[in-house]
Amino acid sequence: MNKSLLVTGGAGFIGANFVHYWLHNHPNDKVVVLDALTYAGNRQNLLGLEDTGRFTFVHGNICDEELVRSLLIEHQINTIVHFAAESHVDRSITGPDAFIETNILGTYSLLKAAKAIWLDEPSSKGLPPLLHRFHHVSTDEVYGTLEPNDPAFTEQTAYAPNSPYAASKAASDHLVRSYHHTYGLQVTTSNCSNNYGPYHFPEKLIPLIITNILLDKPLPVYGDGKQVRDWLYVEDHARGIDLVLAKGKVGESYNIGGHNEWHNIDIVRLVCNLMNEALKYPDVQAKFHLAKHAAKGQAELLITYVEDRLGHDRRYAIDASKTTQELNYRPAESFESGIAKTVDWYLKNDAWWRACLVKAFDEETL
Ligand code: NAD
Repeated sequence: MNKSLLVTGGAGFIGANFVHYWLHNHPNDKVVVLDALTYAGNRQNLLGLEDTGRFTFVHGNICDEELVRSLLIEHQINTIVHFAAESHVDRSITGPDAFIETNILGTYSLLKAAKAIWLDEPSSKGLPPLLHRFHHVSTDEVYGTLEPNDPAFTEQTAYAPNSPYAASKAASDHLVRSYHHTYGLQVTTSNCSNNYGPYHFPEKLIPLIITNILLDKPLPVYGDGKQVRDWLYVEDHARGIDLVLAKGKVGESYNIGGHNEWHNIDIVRLVCNLMNEALKYPDVQAKFHLAKHAAKGQAELLITYVEDRLGHDRRYAIDASKTTQELNYRPAESFESGIAKTVDWYLKNDAWWRACLVKAFDEETL
């Protein structure tokens, strides 16, 4: 069956990568992106996709249930892939309201619209419910934190969210589950580990370190830098969702991860080394003339330890064996190749990240 997808949050980091991936790998499908274009959403991330004739962008909010209903009807949507969210833990600590609004109420509004159009309207006309799928994109952060030797999170791990961000995602996961069990909405959920790759907003760890090195600014590392995260190349997340949509069991959750745990400080050091290497070349030095430390092979000297984040989770690790066994999922990208591609992307796309910094922080040093 050809799919007509509504991708919420498709102008953000993972959503945009997913839309590029989908249109490339599914040449008969259509994609409608619904995105509110918050500070994290960027129309530039989807540039050129209209040329496919299979892509539509709608500037709007997932909390607008009427708008979502009209899109489901107008574009005969049979699949929702729901990425839209407030996604930065630090922002959820200083201002949780937007997280409750978008992540919980926004998901609720989408579920109501999907139920109305896919289940209720056909039934009211004596017809069977429309063939559909609601895929909810969630995070490993809903499971809480791990000690160094604890086994990784499985789909059976009890939810124990620690930040307002994680709590809002956990709440939305529960709502999605309830719409399946109560009303029969055909849902799936994926819980993924930390992503990295192109179009990653430069407030998150890896792009922050890359861009700060290029601007010769301090590289902030929380606490002792020994927090552990499991990193996955963003296109491997898109492939995982593709498999869940194709082969996943309705009503189930699937963990997606990279088997790739790193201490934050080691990631920072690795990126420093890659940037020192890149800045050896005179053309790169000329383009990034502020990057004095990296040009001397000394990016690590920019590392600055800062006070730890409130309630900072120590370790996340994903056990993706269910997804591997049931869906034959394995990440395609090695961490070495993925991180090298990512650094290269930021070197080539400085206009993109400079514009992000201006938009989000009124950055003056550009
Ligand atoms: P992001 O912050 O880069 O993008 C979020 C997008 O949602 C933006 O385009 C923004 O404009 C849009 N948006 C926000 N509020 C909206 C609203 N009310 N209505 C419509 N659009 C709205 O986030 P991301 O890193 O791409 O994450 C996408 C999803 O994946 C989120 O649900 C997040 O919880 C989940 N996730 C992220 C990671 C990660 O490492 N980044 C890991 C696992 C899961």
